[in-house]
Amino acid sequence: MAHIIDGKAYATRLREEIGRQVRKLREHDLVTPGLAVILVGEDPASQIYVRNKANQAREAEMASFEYRLAYGVPQAQLLELIERLNQDPAVHGILVQLPLPPQVDAERVINAIRPDKDIDGFHPINVGKLGTGGQGIVPCTPLGCLMLLKHHLGDMSGLHALVLGRSNIVGKPMANLLLNEHCTVTIAHSRSRDLQAECRRADILVAAVGRARLVPGHWLKPGATVIDVGINRIEEDDQARLVGDVDFASASTVAGAITPVPGGVGPMTIACLLLNTLEATCRQHGIAFPAGIMQSAWGNDACLD
Ligand code: NAD
Repeated sequence: MAHIIDGKAYATRLREEIGRQVRKLREHDLVTPGLAVILVGEDPASQIYVRNKANQAREAEMASFEYRLAYGVPQAQLLELIERLNQDPAVHGILVQLPLPPQVDAERVINAIRPDKDIDGFHPINVGKLGTGGQGIVPCTPLGCLMLLKHHLGDMSGLHALVLGRSNIVGKPMANLLLNEHCTVTIAHSRSRDLQAECRRADILVAAVGRARLVPGHWLKPGATVIDVGINRIEEDDQARLVGDVDFASASTVAGAITPVPGGVGPMTIACLLLNTLEATCRQHGIAFPAGIMQSAWGNDACLD
């Protein structure tokens, strides 16, 4: 049976370590990292995400600022708010919860966020830095996946990695991160011809598609490390369930290690948002980022999960 990569436990330790570093910043450097979250409209899932992000920021002793705008808000008003937050020294990270309503051009909004406060890592400057191996801000979900992979595998150079999905938020940055780790990277997507053959070659599989249980166990290379990003709500046996893009039951008999859904990548995404806010704060104040923070979160035990 595959080793279960416990993202929830890892994220908890990472958040605790971030909290310790935040306290140090407040006491030694008199700086409190500040996270501003903007929600437009009343989408129930987005409201839950925003509440969780704000709560976890507060738990890590960061300052948390929430802005809730009506669904019909004019684009100019949203851009004005972003500009105000760009100038506000108490705000080190700005997050605009997606999706946005149709009257708002999401690209324009993302581009309006100051790149060093863009803790989602979606601004073209940060995207470009990731693509050229520079020191930008990395999108939270792929960063969380990379941490779990590094924790489990250590050196990944030369391994075959397959990324299923090519979104700007997950698939493409994930592929760049794996390339920076010296993997041989393939990106597959909705028009790829033979997903099974691609999966069969992969030592590392990151699935970010949004199709419930698309990948069955018999597609996998035995011993592969599987990171399942997908979150799919299905009805089964008269019950609502959350499942990933990989069929966990069959995959866990073939893979060497696998993340569960829920409890795998999801908790890492918010922890990485806090990590990016901490890093942005350090950069804006010219303070050295605590480089060992990931290792400290892993602790001395070789394998947490
Ligand atoms: P998206 O819809 O933007 O992109 C999906 C990608 O999958 C596309 O590139 C498409 O080409 C590809 N695809 C679609 N059908 C396919 C098929 N049959 N075969 C191969 N490729 C196919 O989605 P996204 O924003 O990248 O999110 C992907 C999944 O990850 C969703 O389930 C989403 O809910 C989840 N997600 C989870 C987290 C988290 O924190 N755990 C964060 C972001 C997204």
